[in-house]
Amino acid sequence: MMNPTIEFDLDFDNLAALCEDIPTLPAAAMELVRICKDADASFDELSRVVALDPGLASKILRVANSASYNRGHDITNLTRACVVLGLKTLKVMGLSFSLRTQLQMATDNQFNLDAFWERCLVTSVAARGLARLVKCPLAEEAFCCGLLSHVGQYALANITPERYRQVVDEAIGILPTAEEERKHLPVDHHEVGGALLKAWQMPELFVAVTAHWKDPQLAPNHDVTKLAEIVRVADMVSRFVCDPGKVYAANVMFEHFEHVFGLSSDETDGFVVSIENEIADMASMLSVSYNQADLDALLDDARQQVIDISLSAVQDLEGAHAREAELTREAETLRRQAQFDALTGIPNRRYFNQRLEKAIVARRREESVKPLGVLMVDVDYFKSVNDIYGHLIGDKVLREIAVRIGETVRDTDLLARYGGEEFVVIVHHVNGNQMESVAERVRQCVAEKPMTFDGHVFDVTVSVGIAYVHDASVENCGYLLLKLADDCLYEAKSQGRNCVVCVAAN
Ligand code: GH3
Ligand code: MG
Ligand code: MG
Repeated sequence: MMNPTIEFDLDFDNLAALCEDIPTLPAAAMELVRICKDADASFDELSRVVALDPGLASKILRVANSASYNRGHDITNLTRACVVLGLKTLKVMGLSFSLRTQLQMATDNQFNLDAFWERCLVTSVAARGLARLVKCPLAEEAFCCGLLSHVGQYALANITPERYRQVVDEAIGILPTAEEERKHLPVDHHEVGGALLKAWQMPELFVAVTAHWKDPQLAPNHDVTKLAEIVRVADMVSRFVCDPGKVYAANVMFEHFEHVFGLSSDETDGFVVSIENEIADMASMLSVSYNQADLDALLDDARQQVIDISLSAVQDLEGAHAREAELTREAETLRRQAQFDALTGIPNRRYFNQRLEKAIVARRREESVKPLGVLMVDVDYFKSVNDIYGHLIGDKVLREIAVRIGETVRDTDLLARYGGEEFVVIVHHVNGNQMESVAERVRQCVAEKPMTFDGHVFDVTVSVGIAYVHDASVENCGYLLLKLADDCLYEAKSQGRNCVVCVAAN
């Protein structure tokens, strides 16, 4: 096991140097990848390169004789095998076999190499399938990029085994994401993977896609962006197929198929199921353990869970809306309680006082020629109404008076219950000589029509005092208006009730 103190001193700024310690791929594989880029490469040349690695050569012969390629004759000649397989397949196989044999782990390294290989394999098959599905001409390149997509994790597990084990332990899935790596390390597997492939002198396209599939939009050119997008979604497919965190993976996977490639959910399901056999074939060819999942059942399950999640999200949202509406209603109720009188439903004294102050301030600014008046109403002998007919009828009388006065004054005037059996009105926009007639109309609206409640018919009258100011800038204007109106009311009571007394303050 590596010494943790030495690990701590690792220079992550110099990734190339860190990657030097990781054994490079066999020369034959590297050469194969290199010459397969060259369209002029002859099959003789290819077979010579393959022959350099007896392990690779025997595998290529085996595949050339497998059911997928063999047309009935045994192929024993390496050149013939290369012809049968074709350039692209040779490249893919050269890379796959050499990676598979080369990427080994020290026995004391706890990195889960089997899980790593399973992910690489599914990502590569998914990437190739997806490239074909979206008609991207770089399908074999997509396979290679998928295969290399996690090579940075292998590198990190070699470079810094202790710290990477901690990253893996804390990761939600079997293999960590770039974000999870960055919680403990100054780099992630994309960056390290790119550096490693560069050190191995892999084709620039593979280096760039490996470094950029986390964020395809930042890729340097269109081909890299396209392949990076494919690998990114292929990686989601592989996480869905291999990882226990499937609900999240499925959710994101479905979204990406739709948003990045415009594929419907049926097309997505069809695609995932279609790669199942290819994954199994590749797994057996490369001796990778692949616990073949029932992808149909997985998809059904995932779809149901995605539906459940979105339903519960909708319910959460509905709940939040309901709570918000309830709070708004409560706030409205409190506001009404603070401003309105519960018995009559008209504004209360508190609200009246606020409005009177505002009216005075506005009047001072406007310098209106019309005076501002306060009208005060008190029900005559109301105690005896209660005494004779009961409090309930007394309440009904108060409500009826509020309605009648409300209908009598202008909408712009403010009627409020001042307390007990007393009402007040702020009177605007009326000339001084008309103030008294406003008060008179209020008196009449109560007196002229008897009240009828619960079979009882009786007359109710009110006394009215009204005071007004032409100049609202007078000190304590509000108090003055109320005091004078109250005085007038008292005077009206003294004059025998059911009458009006009016005064101008200035
Ligand atoms: P006055 O003509 O001098 O005003 O005589 P009044 O009987 O109207 O005057 P007083 O102040 O003696 O009595 C007022 C009564 O109003 C007493 C009180 O019980 C009644 N009252 C005050 N608020 C309410 C209410 O909300 N509902 C009912 N039913 N009665 C109320
Ligand atoms: Mg009273
Ligand atoms: Mg009274």
